[in-house]
Amino acid sequence: MSFQIAIDGPAGAGKSTIARKTASELGFLYIDTGAMYRALGLYILDRSIPLDDEAAIEASLPGADIQLTMENGEQHVLLNGCDVNGRIRTEEAGMAASKVSTYRAVRKKLVECQQKIAGSLDVIMDGRDIGTVVLKNAPLKIFLTASPHIRALRRKEDLALRGTAADLQEIEEDIRKRDEQDMNRAESPLRQAEDAVCIDSSDLTIDEVTDKILALVRERRGSAS
Ligand code: C5P
Repeated sequence: MSFQIAIDGPAGAGKSTIARKTASELGFLYIDTGAMYRALGLYILDRSIPLDDEAAIEASLPGADIQLTMENGEQHVLLNGCDVNGRIRTEEAGMAASKVSTYRAVRKKLVECQQKIAGSLDVIMDGRDIGTVVLKNAPLKIFLTASPHIRALRRKEDLALRGTAADLQEIEEDIRKRDEQDMNRAESPLRQAEDAVCIDSSDLTIDEVTDKILALVRERRGSAS
């Protein structure tokens, strides 16, 4: 029987890093749903459609084909056949993703796509609505969080690794705005699923968080068999 792990949490909590590592330890497929919203945000920016024009965005959706592929063990996002992995990692793409993800038609399109990819495979999927909407029946749901300051520091390091210098205060402000937008939207707001385990990663290393999740997987798998 397949086993699905849902990881939700605010921007910069370390979801992708932890999910990728856990997936590789378990041999599961990792699905980064934020990358799909970012690709769609990029599609809208590229067409110069105003981010607050919900009707125009909805009308443009049939023209956006978003696919995930794996290359050398790394997930790549294809937007209408073009690899946009590099382009989606900017703060501009993140903010555009956060804005377009408030629209019902956008969520419907991407949620259907995510559920189709997961199918009945062993997957670990991260995002904002995985435990509450996309994989509602997942036997293990994690809500991963960390203090806003720690999240901003991690994002700054991340950007530095990609060769982009950024101001810590600006990043913190950006994270605060994104949290507010993600938690207060009408459609699938970011919230902890009732049956999710909350892990605060502020004072934990990547290995410590991963070990906690692996222990929970062993426990849940044991009780399922
Ligand atoms: O996780 P990441 O920062 O890449 O996500 C970018 C944006 O996409 C988030 O701020 C959020 O607004 C949106 N998102 C979402 N639902 C998901 C994943 C991401 O609304 N499942």
